[in-house]
Amino acid sequence: NTAAHADKTYQIGTDVTFPPFEFANDQNKYVGIDIDLMKAIAKDQGFKVNIKPIGFNAAVQATQSGQIDGVIAGMNITPERAQTFDFSNPYYKSGVVMAVKQGGSVKNLNQLKGKKVAVKTGTAGAAYANSIKNKYGFKVVTFDDSNNMYQDVLTGNSAACFEDQPVMQYSIKQGTKLQIVTKPADSGSYGFAVDKGKNKVLLAKFNRGLANLKKNGEYDKIVKHYLDSKG
Ligand code: GLN
Repeated sequence: NTAAHADKTYQIGTDVTFPPFEFANDQNKYVGIDIDLMKAIAKDQGFKVNIKPIGFNAAVQATQSGQIDGVIAGMNITPERAQTFDFSNPYYKSGVVMAVKQGGSVKNLNQLKGKKVAVKTGTAGAAYANSIKNKYGFKVVTFDDSNNMYQDVLTGNSAACFEDQPVMQYSIKQGTKLQIVTKPADSGSYGFAVDKGKNKVLLAKFNRGLANLKKNGEYDKIVKHYLDSKG
């Protein structure tokens, strides 16, 4: 290998707190299924990554404007997004659930009439809430990250929030005093995304690396590590 073949470093945006997919650990280092997967794929395919935890919507926007090369942030592969992004092969199944305060009186969608619901800007959960808000008569309030969204429900300002099931479940296990009251809706899958038509090489490397990691057991090891332990 000569300097001409030096590993390329890609700038990859991610969410700030979306455990078990991305979060800062005790040493303030970013870890999680997305982070470990991205790093393992980079290693497998011979490139480098600089992980930028800038928030979900910010990462999506920065990818679209070409400021960064891609986003890995538990991002659902959707037909709407596929018009402006190229997605990798799916790597994790997920769906949106409604969560309320533990011990509170609100237990279903019908009880949200006249109340507020907290969502995170630009997410599948926000799109879902907006699609049913007129039917159930609630108002949507937006936040940039999951922690602030949960807080709004915990303080009682919002009656509920909409979040991805594996993330909500993990956070509750870690002590967040919320409770899931619905089955996961519109189950899609997470994919790594790049700006449409702009980063075919990186996307191809991601897909090749992902396939290798699934074959050699590394993918299962990463997922297991975060779902069995506490990260
Ligand atoms: N999976 C959801 C989406 O694609 C939320 C992602 C996130 O909050 N990081 O919109």
